[in-house]
Amino acid sequence: MFFTVIACKGQTTKNPELDSVKAEVSKVEVKEDLDYLSSDEMMGRETGTKGIEEAAVFIENKFKDFGVKPFFETYKDSFMVNGIQAFNIVGLVEGKDPQLKNQFIIIGAHYDHIGLGKEVDGDSIANGANDNAAGTVGVIQLAKYFSKAGNNKRSIIFALFSGEEMGLKGSKHLTEKLKAKDLDLYVMFNLEMIGVPMKAKDYEAYLTGFEKSNLAEKFNEYSNGEKVLGFLPQAQQMSLFRRSDNYPFYGAFNVPSQTVSTFDFSNYPYYHHVDDESQFLDAEFMASLIEDFIPGLVKMANTNEKEIKMND
Ligand SMILES: [Zn+2]
Repeated sequence: MFFTVIACKGQTTKNPELDSVKAEVSKVEVKEDLDYLSSDEMMGRETGTKGIEEAAVFIENKFKDFGVKPFFETYKDSFMVNGIQAFNIVGLVEGKDPQLKNQFIIIGAHYDHIGLGKEVDGDSIANGANDNAAGTVGVIQLAKYFSKAGNNKRSIIFALFSGEEMGLKGSKHLTEKLKAKDLDLYVMFNLEMIGVPMKAKDYEAYLTGFEKSNLAEKFNEYSNGEKVLGFLPQAQQMSLFRRSDNYPFYGAFNVPSQTVSTFDFSNYPYYHHVDDESQFLDAEFMASLIEDFIPGLVKMANTNEKEIKMND
């Protein structure tokens, strides 16, 4: 990975634009946050439980530390699901351009999980490390990057959704609220299960709904030709485009709203399993993947025109 190597060695490139976006994501921090969010203390982060509330406080404190502002009056975006109080955590890094800051990118991931699962060897806590502490950590690290770098002309919303495992409830709720505000949404970029590398692929992560927009093509172009995002046939066969929090945004806004993942059904055996624990994830890979998302996202946040579009 050309870009990452440069970043690690602290050398300079001949491309000043890329120089300015080089970033190092700490694998130690990624590992620590993964461990915490998927610890037994969280009890599987089921919507409405004390466990997920602790996860929410953890995310809020990170946002506060980084100087990410609450998008609404507070970070919490509350809603009811089946009589249970739930909340998304929503932060904002405002755009630096007086006009373009009225356009928004959402970088999201669900932070809830299923709580308890089918008991195996006395363990019944479905820790949800890959699904989706991994995506949550990705959003936390990207929020950290943009709040420090301050190099985004467009505004970026960092959204951690609850109620995903109950049917995309949190993202549906936030979609409705933002639609009611007539938000000018440019792209919704959702992270799901990015904790293990893909095998024998010429790209780093796949994009759901690949053919629906030119997002992957543009993103790779923005990444100095690095093939960060690719097409996974199984994602299309299994309609993954409709199975995560990108989908409500697509439905309401009809803009590129897609999920990025590395889970390809053969590289991780613990989907919705009590053994979905952080010890089985690859924090080093994750840190490098998150680093590789940064150039594409920076460019997305800064082009004069909205170059990423739905395909007809
Ligand atoms: Zn998930």
